Amino acid sequence: MTASAELAGPRVILVLTADTGGGHRAAAEAIRQAVHRRYPDELATVTCDPLTGAEANRSVAWVCGRYGPLVRDAPWLWSILFHATNARPLRPILESLLRRFVSAPIAAAVARHQPMAMVALHPLLAASAAALRSEGTAAPALMTVVTDLGSAHRSWWQSPADRVVTPTAELSQQGRRFAGTAPDRCDVIGIPVRAEFRPGPADPTAKAALRRSLGLDPARFVVLVIAGAEAARGMRMWTRTIVNGAADVDVVAICGRDQRLRKDLERLAARSPRRLTVTGFVDNIADWLRSADVLVTKAGPGTIAEATSCGTPMLLAGHLPGQETGNTEIVVRAGAGRAVHGRRELLRLIEDLRADPARVSRMRAAAARLGRPTAAAEIADLLAQQALRKEFR
Ligand code: UDP
Repeated sequence: MTASAELAGPRVILVLTADTGGGHRAAAEAIRQAVHRRYPDELATVTCDPLTGAEANRSVAWVCGRYGPLVRDAPWLWSILFHATNARPLRPILESLLRRFVSAPIAAAVARHQPMAMVALHPLLAASAAALRSEGTAAPALMTVVTDLGSAHRSWWQSPADRVVTPTAELSQQGRRFAGTAPDRCDVIGIPVRAEFRPGPADPTAKAALRRSLGLDPARFVVLVIAGAEAARGMRMWTRTIVNGAADVDVVAICGRDQRLRKDLERLAARSPRRLTVTGFVDNIADWLRSADVLVTKAGPGTIAEATSCGTPMLLAGHLPGQETGNTEIVVRAGAGRAVHGRRELLRLIEDLRADPARVSRMRAAAARLGRPTAAAEIADLLAQQALRKEFR
């Protein structure tokens, strides 16, 4: 496609994301949907995955493909890798590897699609896209949308983007301090969530109908268990603990891409006298969140953004060391959830909530206050501002 043909049609936005976990992909999809909804004739999107997709260097894809097994089986090793690459002397090595192996597929996508703007939704892609620009290659405007919450890897801030969107003022400050991003280029908006999360919490009638459609009993107390798209460590133990120890609750376990866990929990469901529903990776997380009374989860930023949009109270039973440090505190401080330390506390908190609907309602309201269901729309407007050079505010 020639540049003049490109200008005659919609302007292209290159969306840079990767399948390490599920949060980056979900945020990319949220932005893609919002751009198409708000600017159907003026903007088009092209999604590019230079870490785990078809465009990726094969060795890079192999390394990034270890993310799931790492967070499931050896989170301690993930922690070592995260902290080692977040500090000198390993950070410059990581940056030069990114420049060598990840900037190239981004440059190829830029050459092929001639985008007016790029949006990076992964720290390694923010760094790689920024490297492309610093090398003097003709590169389009770059927006970084930080999909972390309580803490963030330094790769997010390798060099200033044209625009940085964060979910919190603290991360925005980090961007200013480490990357030297000008304050008027930083927007505190939130983690973008997909269109199905925008309607907010379900009222009791809608919740009952939703439960029936999912095969759940509208009258029971429902505990939903998720540990990100990869079913990070802990999920097997949380589910078993609740099924075996909590009286009068139904449990739904969404195992994401972990087939081993799914099979294991399906055996438990077959044996269990209580009701346990087990699924693999689902595309309707919003329905499950709206129909649950409480969510037991690791403190994944994507899951927190979605649960708060749906007004689902959270029991945060773990977090990935490194990028999820600090997420639990944000939820607990807002009154939207509780931190859980160990099985006994997990059972006690579920029992307390089951017996106290007023407390659940207060937590639901607090969760909904913390949610940012319009984040994707706001980000789409900023992107349009960048790609079309129009002022929207
Ligand atoms: N997710 C999904 N289907 C599943 C399990 C998870 O769509 O069966 C999505 C979930 O909606 C969220 C993301 O995966 O958008 C998980 O993001 P989070 O940041 O919580 O954890 P990650 O998987 O990135 O570690």
